[in-house]
Amino acid sequence: MNAKTAARAAATQADPRWAAVIARDRAADGAFCYSVATTGVYCRPSCSGRPKPQNVAFHASCDDAEAAGFRPCKRCRPRRQAEAIAWVCGESALGTVLVAQSATGVCAVLIGDTADVLIDELHSRFPQAVLQAGDEQTVALLACVLALLGDPGACLELPLDLRGTPFQLRVWRALLKIPVGETASYTDIAERIGAPAAVRAVAGACAANALAVLIPCHRVLRRDGGLSGYRWGIERKRELLAMEAVRA
Ligand SMILES: [Zn+2]
Repeated sequence: MNAKTAARAAATQADPRWAAVIARDRAADGAFCYSVATTGVYCRPSCSGRPKPQNVAFHASCDDAEAAGFRPCKRCRPRRQAEAIAWVCGESALGTVLVAQSATGVCAVLIGDTADVLIDELHSRFPQAVLQAGDEQTVALLACVLALLGDPGACLELPLDLRGTPFQLRVWRALLKIPVGETASYTDIAERIGAPAAVRAVAGACAANALAVLIPCHRVLRRDGGLSGYRWGIERKRELLAMEAVRA
């Protein structure tokens, strides 16, 4: 590295914004963007790229970066407005439940041991979104989901925001048709969606389900009746099925 390059690298590293780029800090998105001289693109701070500090310049806004001759990164799409997702957490017999909603409907129902873990999971499922604490409407959705955990027969007509590939959507819609108290095998679901050879892909779609309980992936078992896996823990799957068998 020659002296000029070293000086440029040192100037970038001395800027507090560099720490946000290194950390890929989503909280910094919107506060500034950075450009990379060697590629000619500019990025939001959370972009997955790994720029060298000597090539980086900081800009207060997308407009500033473009005025300096850079174009938006196709990976992090700095021009795209961040979507707001509201979330709340509550306690259930199965553990902590997080319910999140977008402008379209419920986009995540996650179950785990602590709220912190679930909020991290929400971040990784919606990396571009701005997560915010829910209002009374989100709290009402949480109450509905908690009621459903206590009474699996409760009929819920919640607006759902399903995000997946066309194949995943077909699988999830087939899961919604499995009645309370019944189960199906991955093979059954593959046949029902007209893709009998896609048993593994069906299992993958079940594992990718972001709406625990609302999309009842817990009702899908191995062909021999084995519980197989569950994104939110095999014990929770067992408890859900036992509860539904009693109440169906
Ligand atoms: Zn980028």
